[in-house]
Amino acid sequence: MTATVDLAALRHNARILQDWAGETELMAVIKADAYGHGILPVARTLRDEGIRHFGVARLAEGIHLREQGHTARILVLGAPSPAKVPHYVDHDLDLTVSSADIAAAVVRHARPGAPIRVHVKVDTGMGRLGLSPEDVSAVVSRLTQTSGVHLAGLWTHFATADAPGSAFAQTQLDRFQAVVEDLDGAVEHVHAANTGALLTIGEPAHDFSPSLIRSGIGLYGLAATPELSARLNLRPAMQLTARVTQLKTVPAGTPISYGARWQAPHRTRIATLGAGYGDGYPRLCSGRATVRLGGGGCPVVGTICMDMCMVDLGPPDQSPATRVERGDEAILFGPSGPTVYDVAQWSETIPYEICCGVSPRVPRRYVDPKEESESALHAAQVSTSEV
Ligand SMILES: *Cc1c(COP(=O)(O)O)cnc(C)c1O
Repeated sequence: MTATVDLAALRHNARILQDWAGETELMAVIKADAYGHGILPVARTLRDEGIRHFGVARLAEGIHLREQGHTARILVLGAPSPAKVPHYVDHDLDLTVSSADIAAAVVRHARPGAPIRVHVKVDTGMGRLGLSPEDVSAVVSRLTQTSGVHLAGLWTHFATADAPGSAFAQTQLDRFQAVVEDLDGAVEHVHAANTGALLTIGEPAHDFSPSLIRSGIGLYGLAATPELSARLNLRPAMQLTARVTQLKTVPAGTPISYGARWQAPHRTRIATLGAGYGDGYPRLCSGRATVRLGGGGCPVVGTICMDMCMVDLGPPDQSPATRVERGDEAILFGPSGPTVYDVAQWSETIPYEICCGVSPRVPRRYVDPKEESESALHAAQVSTSEV
């Protein structure tokens, strides 16, 4: 099984998003192993593309990037544990001040000469992390009056920006704008928009100076819904494939897989694929998904197992059965097969969870087609890197 990541698609998406963002710089969000695409190759490619700001969720992700020689700015979006504040300074990572406790820890650890770079997070309605709008100015003045603390950012996060025209997103933006207007003193960046906000709200969501757009999913060529990604010409960067490990013809009535829940309705050719929920191919896809194999879409039948699943190729003497051999590759999702959106729908989740869920045991293969066309993806020289 292989997750093929198209680095040219990644660059293409970065350019498209940057165009859409105008003057505002992108912060590339590469948490969770770059949404399953592989943090190091993705970080390197985007850095070479001119991106200077990166976002991760956890301290360990930031330290990993630093240890691998990544020198761009990195913001850890999650809340730090107060005792770990010195690690942020040691590794030159920006930290999120999302509560008065964390602000107090920052003040306690501040040393002139090795400034702690902080981004103060305001909860304008996400209800997850952040200071209430009314508490921001006191915390900001405490931080800015402490020598050894640098106010690198003020930010918030939308809860409903994936829904075009969301009134609640507008409410959040209004609350945030009020906080920004109240701020006295300088802040390096003010940022609110993620990919969804960039697509649905547009300029008002990043009309701060200077601002950043924290883009994750869009860089990987996706959005929350296909309708949303259709607003830009984004190209999904990942393709997931698995090989046929066995082929057989079974008589009518033959049960397939755990629970014997599916039985062949007639004499049928069955392909076993080396892909299962242990690879991140969701078990909820059982009986719902199709894969691309033998030139067409073939249904996944029977329960998806941890390491394998079975595909119905139909009558043995007809296409697609006649066109499939052991060792052939089936596309679970990709540009020419079912899409990530299809897999997300079959498994009752969002595209984010599908790409993040491709498990570490699946080798990532990086292709970098010189001509930026879909067909070049297969013809390109490939470099294999297992992360
Ligand atoms: C993950 C994350 C993002 C990126 O969101 P996308 O929808 O993937 O663009 C931005 N901001 C925060 C705080 C996040 O946690």
